[in-house]
Amino acid sequence: MKRSAYLIPLATLVFIALSACGGNATNPDAVELAPLPLPVAFSCDMDRPVAFDASASVTVSCPDADGADWLGRHFVEWYGNQAPKVVAAATSEALPDGDEAYAASADASGIRIAAHSLAGVRWAAYSIRQLAIAKRGTFRTEGRILPSLNVADRPHLAFRAVHLCWFPEMRPSQMERAIRLAALLKFNYAIIEPWGMYASEKHPWWHWPNPTMTKEEVRRLVSIGRDLGITLIPQINVYGHATSSRSCTVKHAMLDLQPEYEPLFEPGGWNWCLSNSEAQRVLRELIAEMHDDFGRPPYFHLGCDEAQPPSCPECRKTPYAELVCRHIANLADFVKAHGARAMIWHDMLLERGDPRWKGYVHHGTKATAALVDTLPKDVIICDWQYSYGDMKETRKDWPTMAYFKEKGFPVAGCPWMNYNAMKPMADYIAAIGGFGFIETTWHHLRGDDWVKMYKFASAAAWGTDVPRRTPMYDTAFGTALRLVGHDMKVTGYLDTGHLNYQVPPAWWIDNN
Ligand SMILES: [Zn+2]
Repeated sequence: MKRSAYLIPLATLVFIALSACGGNATNPDAVELAPLPLPVAFSCDMDRPVAFDASASVTVSCPDADGADWLGRHFVEWYGNQAPKVVAAATSEALPDGDEAYAASADASGIRIAAHSLAGVRWAAYSIRQLAIAKRGTFRTEGRILPSLNVADRPHLAFRAVHLCWFPEMRPSQMERAIRLAALLKFNYAIIEPWGMYASEKHPWWHWPNPTMTKEEVRRLVSIGRDLGITLIPQINVYGHATSSRSCTVKHAMLDLQPEYEPLFEPGGWNWCLSNSEAQRVLRELIAEMHDDFGRPPYFHLGCDEAQPPSCPECRKTPYAELVCRHIANLADFVKAHGARAMIWHDMLLERGDPRWKGYVHHGTKATAALVDTLPKDVIICDWQYSYGDMKETRKDWPTMAYFKEKGFPVAGCPWMNYNAMKPMADYIAAIGGFGFIETTWHHLRGDDWVKMYKFASAAAWGTDVPRRTPMYDTAFGTALRLVGHDMKVTGYLDTGHLNYQVPPAWWIDNN
């Protein structure tokens, strides 16, 4: 008697914890596979495997003909001459509402995918791909099998992003892995912050020496993202964070090596000098160049977090609120003229010390907090709340997000490593009709932090929980990352796993 399979009524779309998923009468310790993020309704049964090889056909029901074409192309890319055939035809799958929804099933009668759009076909393919394993009993792979399965899924939020930092220490292949893995986990946007690595042709001084984020590399990654269903969004910090370096390092990507550009920045270099029209010109030219390199996506992130009040004599001549508003609004209008919408971090729009925001991130002054009444209302506010002091905290309410929504702004909830807060935050954004969800990763895109950030955030954005301590679910991230490596045809040790090294190399390798 099979006891592990569980099927959730589609009408309720209620998730049941994966821990309910066990073995069979013969081997009660066995576990079932599961994809990331866990679908809204999901059942699988590896006691009844289904052939997923050149002898199999996958029937795709999608009003967009590109759906079946895309799937056929990618099956060949992933599986070569062992790829299942793809047949476009109507199926009887019960399909949830929503552009990106999908349903998939596999059993003795065949494998079927239903979706409303190419996006839905992609997400279905990514769930299935994570569940496919090599046929048993041979030396080398001779085709694959799937568990019998039943999936019905749709995202909780339409805008689901990761924010990725292109540090000088980051190899381009690591950025590609992070982008590809985000797509495989069904994020549909990736915001890329250059950290002094963007090789501008217009302003070749605006980066560290030997930048790796070249035009060619950006265009290649944008093209990969477009195919995989993830849109890359560029970022430039147009206010604070003008150093393009972490503040704790006191590095400055421009001024440390090229002091002649000092007038563009406030004394100390943390902020751009907002009264210098040359700074505004440079930023406009950089925005235009980067937006074009990114293939003119619908959004552009302008940063704007953790800024400091000005100190230069020119900036001191203008009321602070007026100075900042003019600067950001002008650049937001410029972004709009390029066909995109501006995004900014939220913290300068909340006054430090305001008791309403106690316990929440807020870094503004009275002057910058007044910007909520003067900034254009189509600027997307990215409200980053990290539960500082207690990353384990679980909150249900996010009054800062409600505040921006009430003020008429689209607002995105942005967690970091506060894993317990991710699902409640995504639920809250959905409940108030917010814009979306952005998982920030900063300098932690490695090791177990990377696993948890992607796992918890993708689940939250799709409206499901992360099962705790479930053996196969713990290896699901590694399985997905390995698939990314196969797609990239990686050959080197450093392009595998979630850490560069298993032990510090200096312990064993003679670098002399
Ligand atoms: Zn100034």
